[in-house]
Amino acid sequence: MTTRNVQPEFRMVTPHGRGAIATIVLSGEDGIVIEAFNRHFRRAGSNQTGFPLNRILYGTWGRQVPEDVVVCRTDEDCIELHCHGGQAAIGRITTDLECFGIRRSESDSVACIAEDDTRLHRDLSRALINAPTFRTAEILLQQSAGLLRSALEDALDSDRRVARLEQLLLRAEFGVGLTRFRTVVLAGRPNVGKSSLMNALAGFFRSIVFDEPGTTRDAVTLRTAFDGWPVELIDTAGIHDAISEVEREGVSRARERMNTADCVCILIDRSEPLCRDDRELLDAWPNAVVVAHKSDLADICGKDLPSTALPVSSLTRDGIDALVRELVDTLIPDVPAPGTALPINAYQVDLIRQALEATRQGADDIAVQLIRSCIE
Ligand code: GDP
Repeated sequence: MTTRNVQPEFRMVTPHGRGAIATIVLSGEDGIVIEAFNRHFRRAGSNQTGFPLNRILYGTWGRQVPEDVVVCRTDEDCIELHCHGGQAAIGRITTDLECFGIRRSESDSVACIAEDDTRLHRDLSRALINAPTFRTAEILLQQSAGLLRSALEDALDSDRRVARLEQLLLRAEFGVGLTRFRTVVLAGRPNVGKSSLMNALAGFFRSIVFDEPGTTRDAVTLRTAFDGWPVELIDTAGIHDAISEVEREGVSRARERMNTADCVCILIDRSEPLCRDDRELLDAWPNAVVVAHKSDLADICGKDLPSTALPVSSLTRDGIDALVRELVDTLIPDVPAPGTALPINAYQVDLIRQALEATRQGADDIAVQLIRSCIE
């Protein structure tokens, strides 16, 4: 993995998300990288210093609480470091590097893609690096294995071009969405159980759960996967008639997040009568997924709730699976059949749109050029 750069810098080459191991690649020609290693790295069981080429060295990083690492100098001015994948270990090492004047590369893992590759191959590699789950990576791998290239090459044929480009555009949203987390905002008045539901959906305890309205002042976000689809859950401040300035700010941010979310999930505490805040929320978000929460308690709301409301208890986990299925159906209504070609980034979608427009206007040469720009 050669990454020649005059400026000393480091980049993460493992993708975001949870991973057992993280890899950091350092490069730079002025010796500062080696200096940083001499300062922070201790080779296990040996007083030897120096970093011979292509030798894998085991040791520790830092002095006070040493972090286990494996390093390898892969080039004169390039060292790879592998450490525990947790944020604490990565944060500690990268902070040391930054304090040493080695900056974080803005391109991170993307820079490891060979620049002489075709545009299509680079785009696919970049998407694969950023695929948050196995399921999305599998679909992107199918595209890499020639699916997308054949579809684009097929579109060079003037007889099939319009149909081909239209098919690709139909799947644009799904394809571009493979590298991102779809957002679900949990909304409802304070104490309705948003934090508890977030924990139940993610399968573990994370945000503060406290029996007093207004505990969650601003949003807590958590990334997880539902059925292999990457999802970001956002637990907002309770939507209610806020009293203090801080609460009002929280409520206004919650509303902003609801406006930009892929899906809004409204929680109603069905063990209490429906109040004005509940009704306003339901009226303002008619397409929201509605949860009749605390279904382990007696149902007081009854027919006041929409008939589609899903009974869920975060306490007993009853209804959680049905809610996950409903959220997946809302976030990803149509999953293309395996083997379907898809555009995978905004650049491709833009060029395909332009190529379709050019074809419709009879500008065949321009259309061909635009399609070739996606490939070459
Ligand atoms: P938030 O303010 O909307 O985030 O609400 P919390 O998640 O902090 O929960 C408020 C209170 O409701 C806590 O005492 C929780 O234990 C309780 N609670 C949450 N979910 C359930 C549930 O499904 N059933 C019952 N009975 N209580 C729940």
